[in-house]
Amino acid sequence: MTPYEYKRIYESEAFKKESIEAGESWGALYQKDKTVFKVWAPFAESVSVCLYRTGTDGEAGAEGISRTAMEKTDTHSFSCTVPGDLDGIYYTYEVEREGTKTECTDPYARACGANGLRSMVVNLADTNPAGFAEDEKWSQKKSNTVIYELHVKDFSWQEESGIREEYRGRFMAFTQKGTSYLGHPTGIDYLKEMGITHVHLLPIFDYASVDETGSGEAFNWGYDPENYNVPEGSYATNPYDGHVRIRECKEMIKALHQAGIAVVMDVVYNHTYSSDKAFQVLAPFYYYRQNEDGSLSNGSACGNETASERYMAGSFIRQSVLYWAKEYHIDGFRFDLMGLHDTETMNSIRKMLDTAFPHKKILMYGEPWTAAASPMAEGFYPAVKNNVNMLDNGIAIFNDNTRDAIKGSVFYGEKPGFVNGRKGLEKEVASAALAFCDGGHPFSMQSPAQSINYVSVHDNYTLWDKLVITAGLDDYQKKEERILKENKLAAGIVMMCMGTPLFQAGEEFGRTKYGDENSYKSSPDINCLDWKRSVEFADLTAYYRDLISLRGKIGFFTDKSMDALAHIQIIKAEEDMVNLLIDNASYGRTLWKRIFISFYAGAEAARIELPAGKWQMLADGSSAGLWKKRRLFGKAGKVEKEINTEPVSLCILGSSEQIS
Ligand code: CA
Repeated sequence: MTPYEYKRIYESEAFKKESIEAGESWGALYQKDKTVFKVWAPFAESVSVCLYRTGTDGEAGAEGISRTAMEKTDTHSFSCTVPGDLDGIYYTYEVEREGTKTECTDPYARACGANGLRSMVVNLADTNPAGFAEDEKWSQKKSNTVIYELHVKDFSWQEESGIREEYRGRFMAFTQKGTSYLGHPTGIDYLKEMGITHVHLLPIFDYASVDETGSGEAFNWGYDPENYNVPEGSYATNPYDGHVRIRECKEMIKALHQAGIAVVMDVVYNHTYSSDKAFQVLAPFYYYRQNEDGSLSNGSACGNETASERYMAGSFIRQSVLYWAKEYHIDGFRFDLMGLHDTETMNSIRKMLDTAFPHKKILMYGEPWTAAASPMAEGFYPAVKNNVNMLDNGIAIFNDNTRDAIKGSVFYGEKPGFVNGRKGLEKEVASAALAFCDGGHPFSMQSPAQSINYVSVHDNYTLWDKLVITAGLDDYQKKEERILKENKLAAGIVMMCMGTPLFQAGEEFGRTKYGDENSYKSSPDINCLDWKRSVEFADLTAYYRDLISLRGKIGFFTDKSMDALAHIQIIKAEEDMVNLLIDNASYGRTLWKRIFISFYAGAEAARIELPAGKWQMLADGSSAGLWKKRRLFGKAGKVEKEINTEPVSLCILGSSEQIS
């Protein structure tokens, strides 16, 4: 059949009905005395399951064990039962179509061998580290979410991390406590000290572009999916034995939970690395979105895009998310290029997670854009920013308006934003503070809960590099005072906006990639967290840490409903200054009934008029930890009417008096 003919059939109501009836239980279903293999392969003439002792041909004892013809169980499904304990046995499917036989992996595989070349049957119960059953009950205790975006290899690549060599760059690095550099904590102790509530890990599922059997020097962000339901092998201490990566990934999650940190997984269901592997062999052109002529469309700019609106593709995504949440105790999902998914599928995932985990709110957020035009089927709506009101309120989006207002466009490196010198952005920054819930924007947020606020993630320049460039400088290493001030103000705005703050790991110590704007496959030396710099920039790190802590003490920020808008006023948004007044009194027992916040980006010192009453300085451009100094809380520490502020500075003040 031609791609066009496939398209016609797949889009028919009859085919959709058959797909729904096929069920949702696929893959190698392990039991101690037998394994049932189930695969969906429409229009295949025959399917066999091939068993192997090893995951690759290069290993000792690599010869095949058996080849079992599967039986057709309904219009498009095949199944067979193989007796015996198959835990650790590798397998593939051999699919015959139009007279040609092609071998492929199982897209539903829960384990695989080196480089994901063969799937593996696994007894998952045996992969749980000690105490993992108790870990299932773990849930986030802190109410004020702050997310830290981190890459597994970046975290512990550097020797100065103090992590033992065999764990460096791998899942197990997260399990090592007590590491430090020049007396400053590193590793998981550092994460704990930062006070972040969630670590958001760049892809940890099996991706294709790093050779898992190589020296370990190869690097990739991991946005090139191979096996969606298996952890990446280059992060395991042994990529060959399919059990090891599963156990070690679980060890990492358990260690983060024990440190009080929830785990968000970056998921990339929008495309696959190859366009001719398992999905395509089993169901030609089904899992991928097609152009009018039947050819593969390319909304991801990576060669293909998946078709979430097709039933089995949407079902695959749902099942995969549920699997990670249940089997690995994942606490949140970040959807790469979410704009390539339809709103119906996204909302169905939200509903599914809420039903499966009634006592735990699993985070969902994503990039509300695509990388190129996408021909989504008629009657479906892409989960892009302008459709944010069609998404469940429990699905948030990366707020690129906030990002660009604060520090300038990601598409034009030299273009500044509010903190680094562009004029006329006061109103936009004020909207950012209100999570763009103030109306009058081309997109309409349903509540602050839908806004993920950030200035830098793995994509584009690091915040530090961007600020160096917009200042017309070129020394990324140097701890330049001006850049430091801009960085602090940017962090202050992100942390004092309604919604949920997120920042790139290392942003808090002036992370630089030396001007590398797209480091997705640059060396780990460029990408890694530089623990030496974390010591050199300890004052900036402390500023972030104190901001996170201060935010956690302002009850107002836990309210992400529209009702919270009634408790905040923009009292100024002009002359390089944005001033906010928060009524914090109705948010439980609180140190401060009112909070006054000023973002000032001007080049000269300025006067700030204060609302009536006596105020205490909680944070200024130098320190975000003034509130910790008890002595300032006496009479001597009080100010009223007005204060002076330095150029490019944040000011936060608190008042114990109710608004009159
Ligand atoms: Ca891999």
